[in-house]
Amino acid sequence: MSRVAYVNGRYVRHAEAGVSIDDRAFLFSDGIYEVIEIYQGALIDERGHLDRLARSAGELRLTPPLGEAALRFVMRELVARNRVQFGHVYLQITRGAARREHTFPPAGTPTTLVAFARSHDPDAGEAKARKGVNAITLPDIRWKRPDIKTVSLLPNVLAKQQAKEAGAYEAWLVDADGFVTEGASSNAWIVDKTGALRTHPADSSILLGITRARILEIARAKGIPVIERAFTVAETHEAAEAFISGATTLVMPIVRLDGRPIGQTSSDCAAPGPVSLGLRACFHEFAVKSV
Ligand code: PLP
Repeated sequence: MSRVAYVNGRYVRHAEAGVSIDDRAFLFSDGIYEVIEIYQGALIDERGHLDRLARSAGELRLTPPLGEAALRFVMRELVARNRVQFGHVYLQITRGAARREHTFPPAGTPTTLVAFARSHDPDAGEAKARKGVNAITLPDIRWKRPDIKTVSLLPNVLAKQQAKEAGAYEAWLVDADGFVTEGASSNAWIVDKTGALRTHPADSSILLGITRARILEIARAKGIPVIERAFTVAETHEAAEAFISGATTLVMPIVRLDGRPIGQTSSDCAAPGPVSLGLRACFHEFAVKSV
């Protein structure tokens, strides 16, 4: 079965899907995107993702080419046509194709909409979570509006590659004051020694993760104390647990940061902690209820 993508009103073979070389996202990374988890064929936290897409569009003064009902239809069509049970839908809207000028194209230039769906192996995700992953820290060199989900991801790409070359899965980005903002493609969390969850406050220096919001809700419902206050790398080394969150990683335990085990005394045993794994299980329970 060949994969099917959506490009500006048409369903096309993924391998043949394309946009103009004049597209503003290609020339200026002038576009926004969303990634939505598919769990048992259902779109998880669709409302939150569509609201964030609308917010990103507003911040960039972009008008999506389709209304929300049509977007929802396209995403379901992609899930069905690609027979995705577990995976994600990717949606991108750009300022369209126009003669290369930094200023916006003439009024009426249609915006570009591209979407595709991809399957994941859910067992591989679970196996990874049982072992946990490593992270490294790097300076946060991004622009001052990472709260807008734009396709302008070069610092994230470079950080993620550096992490990979260091044998790590994620890079935690550290601001000029020494606080961890978030991961290159995830939000960052610790569980402190008192058992409280800590994550960066929802301000303009992080992406307002939809999974982050869901975890906060789950934790509060379970009576886990939650503190939305930034933490340092040193505090992470002191923490009982650390993890990342995102629509594709869900809750993924971090077992080593910069090579040092989290929450363990012996460097031989770096293992995910109970709070991280418990929250991951709760997230799955939430997803099952959404199906
Ligand atoms: N932070 C960054 C930089 C991301 O790229 C992502 C996800 O792609 C997240 C956080 C997590 O956001 P969400 O939970 O909405 O997937």
